[in-house]
Amino acid sequence: MSRKNNSSLMEKIVSLAKRRGFIYQSSEIYGGLAGTWDYGPLGNELKHNIEQLWWRRFVSSRDDMYGISSSVIMPEAVWRASGHLEGFTDPMVECEKCRRRFRADHLDGVKDCSFCGGKLSAEKTFNLLFPVEMGSAVGGTTTAYLRGELAQGMFVNFKNIVNSFHPKLPFGIAQIGKAFRNEINPRDFLFRVREFDLAEFEYFIRESDWEQQFEYWREQIWQWIDQIGLSRERVHELEVPENDRAHYSKRTIDFEYDYPFGRKELYGLAYRTDYDLKKHMEESGVDISYLDQESNEKIIPHVIEPTFGIGRTVFAILCESYQEDTLSGEKRVFLKFPKAIAPVKAAVFPLLKNKPALVERAKDVYNMIKKEIPEIMFDDNGNIGKRYRRQDEIGTPNCVTVDFDTLEDNTVTVRDRDSGKQKRVLISKLVSRLTFEKGT
Ligand code: ATP
Repeated sequence: MSRKNNSSLMEKIVSLAKRRGFIYQSSEIYGGLAGTWDYGPLGNELKHNIEQLWWRRFVSSRDDMYGISSSVIMPEAVWRASGHLEGFTDPMVECEKCRRRFRADHLDGVKDCSFCGGKLSAEKTFNLLFPVEMGSAVGGTTTAYLRGELAQGMFVNFKNIVNSFHPKLPFGIAQIGKAFRNEINPRDFLFRVREFDLAEFEYFIRESDWEQQFEYWREQIWQWIDQIGLSRERVHELEVPENDRAHYSKRTIDFEYDYPFGRKELYGLAYRTDYDLKKHMEESGVDISYLDQESNEKIIPHVIEPTFGIGRTVFAILCESYQEDTLSGEKRVFLKFPKAIAPVKAAVFPLLKNKPALVERAKDVYNMIKKEIPEIMFDDNGNIGKRYRRQDEIGTPNCVTVDFDTLEDNTVTVRDRDSGKQKRVLISKLVSRLTFEKGT
């Protein structure tokens, strides 16, 4: 199902994300800063869960991946070598009246400023790297750059990893971290921002294996998409034509998602050839070639690069999970998160707030679960119906209620978020029930 231009869904998601503590506008009390967002407690937990799953799937569960965290600030030479100083640009036009800037390739033929109707300038190129002045003014400063992609951190560490771990080809270097792009027109919530989180790896291979490796990682990306609960019908591959590909790429597939504002890139898969390692060797003068034990020859490995935008993933998961239905005659909103990424795994309530025996027993149950599943909540505010609605809105898969029967038979009710149905469960079976319940 395409959701093109579904602006009301977009508004609902942005408003829920703010109201419930997922995503806030950054520095809002000062009017905000364009292209930056802050993750509140629930958004942070959601993002953390996605990153943990990603790391387990692509790094720690494998023997051929080396995880790193490289610096965010990198010297100019890195970006000169990588081609970003020259080529990391977007076409821009500027309104001659109000000075607003626009991406020339996003204008769809529009000739005047959409804000004031002013005339738009001729097209210029605009570099997306963020320069940083390093050092004190007294001794002079050096220009460095906030990284525009994580990949260069992996390339400049290639020799270090080879020297420390002697990996055999193929192997990968992975990281999760911040990237910065001075986007001309940040917009569409978390989609196009100036500071964002990426998860990516450079997978080093022999040139002759590139097509087979490309296909392997293509399939792995689809499996990840399944794991985080995005439906395959909303994700589409786009074979990027040569003239649209980044300067380093010989083949790129974009994985696009049907966001409420249209079909746009979620992930990328690129064959970067030996472009980057070769360029760093030339620029630094350091021999970073690799001795292939199979052929006993020095080679420059080639690279397959899957890139996963974390912010765009969080946003896609919010869109995918957002549901409205009617339960017991009342309209409700719920987020249908897969259990593995839900920020809160369960909430525990006493049926009535003013019955000390129920509150005490509910706190015991809460403390018992919390030892095994830390991401749980206790709530005794308002009536039980309101508590269910609050948990539905933040996507909590199960609510556990302690009632008068609990005091007699050590059972509680466990309510399922999606169906609203409740079942009685023995307290002794609760933890395994909350962790492994089928279908969540
Ligand atoms: P676009 O065409 O949307 O500007 P791109 O082709 O420049 O993206 P890549 O260089 O392939 O993007 O970036 C890798 C990944 O980083 C993307 O797949 C996306 O998930 C994420 N990404 C890129 N730019 C942004 C941004 N401004 N805000 C949030 N995520 C981004």
